[in-house]
Amino acid sequence: MKLKVNKQQRYGKMRAHTAVHLLFWALEKITWRTDIKQAGSYVDVDYGRLDFNSEKPLSGETLHKIEELVNSWIQEAIDVDIFETSLDEAVKSGAKAFFDEKYGEKVRVIKIPWADVELCGWTHSPNTSFLWAFKIISQDAVSSGIKRISIITWAKVAQHSMEQEKYINQIAKILDSSPAQILEKINKNQKELETLKNELNKIKEWLITSKLKSLEKQEWIFEYIIKLEDFDWIDFKTLVQKVRTTFTESNIIIYSQQGNFAIVGKSISAKEFAKEKWLKWWWSDSIVQWRDKKILELV
Ligand SMILES: [Zn+2]
Repeated sequence: MKLKVNKQQRYGKMRAHTAVHLLFWALEKITWRTDIKQAGSYVDVDYGRLDFNSEKPLSGETLHKIEELVNSWIQEAIDVDIFETSLDEAVKSGAKAFFDEKYGEKVRVIKIPWADVELCGWTHSPNTSFLWAFKIISQDAVSSGIKRISIITWAKVAQHSMEQEKYINQIAKILDSSPAQILEKINKNQKELETLKNELNKIKEWLITSKLKSLEKQEWIFEYIIKLEDFDWIDFKTLVQKVRTTFTESNIIIYSQQGNFAIVGKSISAKEFAKEKWLKWWWSDSIVQWRDKKILELV
């Protein structure tokens, strides 16, 4: 019988698995937490995931510090020490044992000086420099209180960087800018947008006022009947406010086809009128508003 190992795959998984160890240890060191528990992990070729207990997601700054620490361990080219010893000895030396499984008399220990010691039966790179580079690519919430960090190693980091560059170039192109000036350009665009919004609001204001002033007066206790649909570029609340400040001496009904209405009463009590007509209403004496289809029959 001949056993054939796919070298590319094997080395890629060794790097990713070793990186997940480094990630876990860096996570503890950077966050100053001693209660972090591994809630699962996954390893593929130069790709790994670590699930761990954390209520809040880690900040961008914390993730960056973890990346820096792991990359410093990689650059220091530390030999990965793997040996077998008794469980007692391993625990005494501070080795972490995470899984609820029972350990035998002899246990396998992985030790990366300056980083940490852990019990592990998996396969590891012999030296941290084999990883070349380490990058966190995402942080997700898996379930309540469990976060997941995904990482890449080796050539995938360079590939990732090239993809990011492509992406940034695309954004720069859309913004008609260059990658170095993206932020400046976005700030400028936002300022322009703000100015345009203000101008638009002024125009709307003017349009509402002039449209309200051109309304025909009715021969009814309500001198003005205003259909919301005729002012479809503003919302109900804004229209009601505008109407109240424009007509200070009139009784007004504002309504929509959906049955939204507001009664602004100056010489009559809006509340009394709503009561009299059995309208479902809400608010104060001078203005009532609610939603009632009956308003459509009334107007
Ligand atoms: Zn391991």
